[in-house]
Amino acid sequence: MQIKFHGAAQTVTGSQHLITVNGKKFLLDCGLFQGRRKDTAERNRSFSANPKDIEAVVLSHAHADHAANLPNLVKHGFDGPIHATNATEDMAEYMLRDSGRIQESDARYINKKRAKRGEPPIEAMYTEEDALEALQLFNCHDYHTEFEVMPGVTATFSDAGHILGSAITTLTLEEKGKKYRIGFSGDIGRNNKPILRDPEKLDVALDALLMESTYGNRNHNDPGQAIIKLEKTVKDVVRKGGKLVIPSFAVGRSQDIVYWLHQLMDSGRIPRIPVFVDSPLTSNISKIFSRHEDLYDRETQDFMGLDHKHGHDGPLRYPELHYTASVDESKAINHMSGPLIVISASGMVETGRIVHHVRNTIEQPENTILIVSWQAPHTLGRRLVEKKQRIKIWGDEFHRKADVQIINGLSAHADEKELIEWCNPLKGRVGKIFLVHGELTPQQNLKARLNANNFEHVYIPKQGDTFDF
Ligand SMILES: [Zn+2]
Repeated sequence: MQIKFHGAAQTVTGSQHLITVNGKKFLLDCGLFQGRRKDTAERNRSFSANPKDIEAVVLSHAHADHAANLPNLVKHGFDGPIHATNATEDMAEYMLRDSGRIQESDARYINKKRAKRGEPPIEAMYTEEDALEALQLFNCHDYHTEFEVMPGVTATFSDAGHILGSAITTLTLEEKGKKYRIGFSGDIGRNNKPILRDPEKLDVALDALLMESTYGNRNHNDPGQAIIKLEKTVKDVVRKGGKLVIPSFAVGRSQDIVYWLHQLMDSGRIPRIPVFVDSPLTSNISKIFSRHEDLYDRETQDFMGLDHKHGHDGPLRYPELHYTASVDESKAINHMSGPLIVISASGMVETGRIVHHVRNTIEQPENTILIVSWQAPHTLGRRLVEKKQRIKIWGDEFHRKADVQIINGLSAHADEKELIEWCNPLKGRVGKIFLVHGELTPQQNLKARLNANNFEHVYIPKQGDTFDF
């Protein structure tokens, strides 16, 4: 039996691990490698094995860096089952199709430039049509229910608490009469996050564990502080009669904010003011949440009990909350007077309707832009975090008078302390730990911390490394 590390090795994107057992191969995850355009196309087109020779995929969750290379795998000949939880399939339906459309529009943009230089067009890495084909191959499973991945291999999902549907996988593999057990953490969530359950811990003996290490050298702020900051920011905007514009990722973060606003209004901590979710993808993802209320944590279930008494309909539905669909509805928000709240994507203010909302509100002092996630260098979101006075948006320069506020501590990933705690029940019961899905510096720190906690055999595989059992 062999594990080959093909992606998310000493980096955080392109999650893809190939396991060969009895001469047959299957994948854990098939995510997009994200980085500079030139490097990424090449990387994403090279798989750990010929896609035609891969029997199955086990998918941890629907985030792009774990799932969005699946349409490409299918395009190159993979036709086996893609095993995932029910909620992951629902999320993947929107996210993979969305990713297909982005690939198509990227290719159109590049080809326009190439045509000007007299160069031949390139092909989109994959299309929405390819995404639809990948979706046909999904095989869904409940948490805690064992299923066959391929002959000789079974798996069970438990809740990773990272995004809706996210799973930790326990695999049992049999080769030449010998049994092996391997754990794959996927991305591990955090305790006490809104809506989602806390990550489940693995309580079994393992020959090997593949474990994420994104924040292996950092501890997050307490999420309890975040809701207090949100309350204060809303109150300030209400006092000024302005608009509160919140750029947010469609999955997870937006639902956290929508739910918190609901809680703050119901408890009377903020006044009841209109909230617009102005992103079709965010609205669709919120609908999926509502289809899977059985996956909500105890606190959210209790809130729903009370909520029904108020005549509301779950954490993500309340009278002040409007999901806008059409472009006209989106534009209409510009002409409304505050106080009101707009939540829109993309999370780093690079594309989508949020860019219009920021353009339209940035020059009035009564408005506030609230940043709720990490912003990559060179993005408009980063320029806002840096509180620049003059900000260029689509070539036009704006003089920022709107306030910018920042909420930290909303990460969906376990931090250093939480990763160690998550591992603790495996003490003395895990053969080898392979750290994946992290940059080298956090990985080295986490390895040292695990060693100090009596986990002896911790490895940091490089891209292409293999390990034989
Ligand atoms: Zn993730």
